[in-house]
Amino acid sequence: MVEKGFMKLAGMVAHSMVDGPGVRFVIFFQGCIHGCKGCQNPDTWNSEGGETVLISDVIEKIRGTKYLDGITLSGGDPLLQAEAAMLISKAAKEMGLDVWCYTGWTYEDIQSGKAGEEAKNALAYMDVLVDGPFVEEMMEGDHIFRGSANQRLIELNETRKMGSIVLV
Ligand code: SF4
Repeated sequence: MVEKGFMKLAGMVAHSMVDGPGVRFVIFFQGCIHGCKGCQNPDTWNSEGGETVLISDVIEKIRGTKYLDGITLSGGDPLLQAEAAMLISKAAKEMGLDVWCYTGWTYEDIQSGKAGEEAKNALAYMDVLVDGPFVEEMMEGDHIFRGSANQRLIELNETRKMGSIVLV
């Protein structure tokens, strides 16, 4: 655990073209409990690893980066550090950026509280959730912005409006 106002960070990429549409600032959160076989980022699993940084410093880095369409929270699992995920997402929305988030939980898991109340609340500031664990046996085929076919690109604004899952 880190002190309030801080988060565990695995890394950041200022201008990514592969973690969602357009040009995106990607924040890789440190720590994951899902243990997916074939995970591309096992170095991000250890919640004691990575770098301890101020959440406000991450927000300022985003604010100081030009030519962005959005941000992407990745990892690791960003929703294990739900307060940081929420604060960064909220700040990005205020900057006019759209917010994508990758998580190993399914949308239903999150809604049922399995990822904790804070994770559920963090979703309120996000536009797209790429949900579910990476399943190596389901990685064949063309899954744009996803690792395996079971993962979904959930349009959260429409989902909130309709009351049921709407895909991108
Ligand atoms: S949720 Fe993502 S980071 Fe975590 S083990 Fe699965 S693929 Fe790796």
